[in-house]
Amino acid sequence: MRYGHFHSIETREFLASLLDIYHIFFGSPREAPNRSVQSNTVTQIHVTPKDTNNSQVVNTKDLDKDNSTADSALYDQVILTTGSGALLSDLALPRIHQFTVPPSVTVGVVNLYYSNPNLLPVSGFGYLIPQSIPFEQNPELALGVVFDSDAVQGQDSVPGTKLTVMLGGHWWNSFSSPPSEEQCLDMARSLLKRHLRIQDEPVATNVVVQKHCIPQYPVGYRKNVLAPIHEALLKEYQGRLKVCGSRFHGVGVNDCIRAAADIAETASGPEWREKTGLERFAKAQEWATLQPSKMPEDVRN
Ligand SMILES: Cc1cc2nc3c(=O)[nH]c(=O)nc-3n(C[C@H](O)[C@H](O)[C@H](O)COP(=O)(O)OP(=O)(O)OC[C@H]3O[C@@H](n4cnc5c(N)ncnc54)[C@H](O)[C@@H]3O)c2cc1C
Repeated sequence: MRYGHFHSIETREFLASLLDIYHIFFGSPREAPNRSVQSNTVTQIHVTPKDTNNSQVVNTKDLDKDNSTADSALYDQVILTTGSGALLSDLALPRIHQFTVPPSVTVGVVNLYYSNPNLLPVSGFGYLIPQSIPFEQNPELALGVVFDSDAVQGQDSVPGTKLTVMLGGHWWNSFSSPPSEEQCLDMARSLLKRHLRIQDEPVATNVVVQKHCIPQYPVGYRKNVLAPIHEALLKEYQGRLKVCGSRFHGVGVNDCIRAAADIAETASGPEWREKTGLERFAKAQEWATLQPSKMPEDVRN
């Protein structure tokens, strides 16, 4: 992992994949006798009534094989980490169905590479476009721009400027279908021209419309959704079903890794029957008030 610093922002860059990091710490997950890792496999949890059985049945089915039958296994605890929140809404949890879990939004991700290494008028990680910006100033419905060649340096064998424009998200919620990849590229280029005065032709581009890829929390999510889900999970499962990941604990990779470490500790701890992964949301949120005059100079600015 490599660290980068900008004014009041820190970036972490993985030189390998997240799975490689797992291998460095724990060796190959496939080799250990008490673990089994199945990829390209769809999982279904069968709800077991709390009074009749103390375990969950988990079925796994190989997506590569059309007529593969599901393998079943019993587990004391299940930790649900499906990013989309799928499974949670399928579970027979009447109290959970009352709460709106926010839908994951669709994002248009446009990567552009320019041969000119000095295209950007400023240096930094990039910028996000707040919702308060009026439509006339954001007709592309963009979310923000990442300056990849600034944020992640030393990866490339040729000089140049790399940018990522992110489009859509909640802005596209009312669309019957997201814009095409060609439209996304046109919108990204129009935005870069207006914001950063970039008129060069990109040497290479890549556009992916990532469908339902990231949850967007509404105001009050913690109190109105997560706290009630915690209570419902606790009542129905007494700690046997826990949840973790971007749907609940923050969408950043840092948030997800931290939440995974916390839930692993909780699940192996003595009080696992009282925990769902969401217990901290059941408490009132504490706020600290900071006096600007007491803040360090560089934070104030
Ligand atoms: C375009 C984009 C840009 C982003 N940029 C950044 C960034 O710069 N920095 C940052 O920190 N974060 C970024 N994020 C956010 C971050 O990548 C995600 O929030 C985070 O990776 C989510 O991790 P997760 O483990 O919760 O979910 P995921 O990584 O989505 O993992 C969930 C897994 O569950 C699997 N799954 C789902 N259903 C089933 C099932 N029934 N059976 C079996 N498996 C199932 C899925 O296939 C998936 O592999 C970005 C996200 C997007 C979409």
